[in-house]
Amino acid sequence: MELASRVKSLTPSSTLAISAKAKELKKEGHDVIGLGVGEPDFNTPQYILNAAMKAMEEGMTKYTPSGGIVELKQAIIDKLKDDNNLDYKENEIIVTTGAKHALYTLFQVILNKGDEVIVPAPYWVSYPEQIKLAEGEPVFVKGSETNDFKITPQQLEEAITKNTKAFILNSPSNPTGMMYSKDELIKLGEVCQKYNIIIVSDEIYEKLIYTEDAHVSIAELSDTLKAQTIVINGVSKSHAMTGWRIGYAAGPEAIIKAMTNHVSHATSNPTSIAQYAALRAYNANEDPTIEMRKIFSERLDTLYELMTNIPGISCEKPKGAFYLFPNVSEAAKMNGFNSVDDWAKALLEEEKVALVPGSGFGSPENVRLSYAVSKENLVEAAQRIKRFVEKHQ
Ligand code: PLP
Repeated sequence: MELASRVKSLTPSSTLAISAKAKELKKEGHDVIGLGVGEPDFNTPQYILNAAMKAMEEGMTKYTPSGGIVELKQAIIDKLKDDNNLDYKENEIIVTTGAKHALYTLFQVILNKGDEVIVPAPYWVSYPEQIKLAEGEPVFVKGSETNDFKITPQQLEEAITKNTKAFILNSPSNPTGMMYSKDELIKLGEVCQKYNIIIVSDEIYEKLIYTEDAHVSIAELSDTLKAQTIVINGVSKSHAMTGWRIGYAAGPEAIIKAMTNHVSHATSNPTSIAQYAALRAYNANEDPTIEMRKIFSERLDTLYELMTNIPGISCEKPKGAFYLFPNVSEAAKMNGFNSVDDWAKALLEEEKVALVPGSGFGSPENVRLSYAVSKENLVEAAQRIKRFVEKHQ
């Protein structure tokens, strides 16, 4: 059967491919350490589970409005005000089936065939594919490793053409864990304003920052920038709720309205029960990220120290998210491999450590290691990587 051309060029998620291989090896009885994961290894807090159970018992099991229940929209409005000093109205918010579906729907409603979206590389794997599914064209701009993988305003301006429709900002970033400072955002914002480009600000890792640096949303810099920006966020990473699939977008009314119409024909609404769980998450006095941050920060220090002691591996220390993105090209070369992809494949086969080659993120010299696993596993993984590198020298 002939498939639509739209899906023929889809690249399977590199993160999922490595997880599949790791699972296969595990099934064969191998002791595999998987560092490919993109989700917190914590359980959803009990009070959130209780809220979901209560919602079920109280019959909140029916369709909801396509854009989400009013109470949750209000809780998101409050969150955006408290955390980001942003004022939104109810018709400027849409609750979605994870932040991923917010992004997907956004590209569907803003892109026409051939419209370009500037994607700073390294990038999260789904951006280019989602843009292509909306018949848009991703335009990659490589952030230099010496600039913490961030792009400069000059680079942004040089990439702009008459077809440029939007620009993606992801800070803290997956896969690099790097963050843009307020000054950097001001300068990038000036370029976006000059050319009237939509800014897609993916702030999903906002709460996972391990330095004194404050998260700044580009939308809070001025009313003009806010009017050009769609803020994307959700509870997946902040409340260990990846499986519940609740995210949101906040932005200009016309875009949110179009997204809501689109969603009404795609999913109808995000799961009712999960929406009540997310409502509890946002309305809680508890903040699960305090504990998460403490643990992630310790793991980051441990992993960073161990990895940077391995010959041929260099690494900028990330500030947020839960990934390390070292450059292993020197080690791969020293070890006699033609590419980092081959090096990572051999590492999985020989030492049973699964990490994600950077090629899937537009950065073929690096690999991504997730530290959303126990400290013991991180220490063991680093020892195995060291042994692998030394063995092949
Ligand atoms: N944006 C980035 C940068 C991510 O890393 C992820 C998840 O890995 C998402 C969005 C999607 O989040 P959600 O699970 O809410 O769909």
